[in-house]
Amino acid sequence: MSFSSLGLSAPLLRAVNDEGYSAPFPIQAQAIPAVLSGRDVMAAAQTGTGKTASYTLPMLQRLATGPRARANHIRALVLTPTRELAIQVAGNVAVYGRHLSLTSGLVYGGVKINPQMMRLRRGIDVLVATPGRLLDLFSKNAVTFSQVEILVLDEADRMLDMGFLKDIYKLMALLPKKRQNLLFSATFSEEIRQLTDTFLEAPVMIEVSPRNTSAQSVKQWAYEVDKGRKGALLSHLIRTHGWAQVLVFTRTKKGADRLVRDLGEDGVLAVAIHGDKSQGQRSRALADFKANKSRVLVATDLAARGLDINELPRVINFELPKVSENYIHRIGRTGRAGLEGEGISLVSADEVTLLSAIESLIRQTLVREVDPDFVPTFKVPLTRQVNVRPKKPKKPKKKGNSSACASGGPAGD
Ligand code: AMP
Repeated sequence: MSFSSLGLSAPLLRAVNDEGYSAPFPIQAQAIPAVLSGRDVMAAAQTGTGKTASYTLPMLQRLATGPRARANHIRALVLTPTRELAIQVAGNVAVYGRHLSLTSGLVYGGVKINPQMMRLRRGIDVLVATPGRLLDLFSKNAVTFSQVEILVLDEADRMLDMGFLKDIYKLMALLPKKRQNLLFSATFSEEIRQLTDTFLEAPVMIEVSPRNTSAQSVKQWAYEVDKGRKGALLSHLIRTHGWAQVLVFTRTKKGADRLVRDLGEDGVLAVAIHGDKSQGQRSRALADFKANKSRVLVATDLAARGLDINELPRVINFELPKVSENYIHRIGRTGRAGLEGEGISLVSADEVTLLSAIESLIRQTLVREVDPDFVPTFKVPLTRQVNVRPKKPKKPKKKGNSSACASGGPAGD
């Protein structure tokens, strides 16, 4: 299968070629023709599957014909849960649209609003936004939605996790009723299904990899270790294996800062990325990590959402996530675009219930290792002795109708 067989126009095929993509990924093969046909799409796809191109390429093609955005208007709106994902998507829009004359822009919270208001004055064909800041801009009359033709909700599950449901409904009530809706979500909870029932019309359903199974290209295992020795084990592993680029997940912001400090004292250069850091600090931390200036990037789950770090070789779970599905999101940071990756969890005895829930979700038992210098005093019990009932994932429902409703007040992002 080639990109040209999907009905993409020459400028987009050129852009894809510039990027060195030789063939479409499965989600692209399915979503591109569906989006080009003008239908609503509901796709179950994790990050790393190529989902951004799967909606961006056909969206740009549809926008390429038709009048440009008028002053303060936008024609396509991509909503994302986090600034990092917004930056990522806006970057992709610019790359894939480089041979077209469409304009694109990016708005998110935590930075000055005035430059964003100025930019919107000229009108923007594709706007990538986080919900809270977009509502702020609307309340300041900086943006008008009457020209919107396409709405994309990217990582819809995460938007709901972050409490954006009210904002989303509020925004949907402001958009024209006649529009194309595209929804991407890694998982499908009851709330997501309600959302899709409310605003998708007879969507094309796409499911590329079985939900709730973590990336096949990622080799996953666990180190058993005492809780208080995790930091020492981590720097030991980094140094003995000579790992150059490691993304480490902690459960809390404080934990992330503490780990950065401990690793630093051990001579391992690490930086943290989390919600208490300013946008400048977050961007710098990410840029330094990408440029191999720091060896370790320590992140919380929210901050890491949407990070796309090329050829990231491994992800470490310093602590297991409380929400099992975050394990899949974390592991999805590596082994992307068909490359091999490693997902390593440092597990202490008190985390056995979390481990068990994760293993039920991914339907595999993680192989365990013990480093001879870090033999745990408290052994992690075998998970089959732990009683957790695996939750059955729900199938996305087929059809819905399109009526948007308003509710609630804005919440900033
Ligand atoms: P995404 O799931 O959209 O975050 O994309 C994951 C990664 O796959 C990004 O680094 C893309 O540049 C890359 N990618 C997307 N589509 C293709 C393709 N057809 N061939 C090779 N790489 C791709």
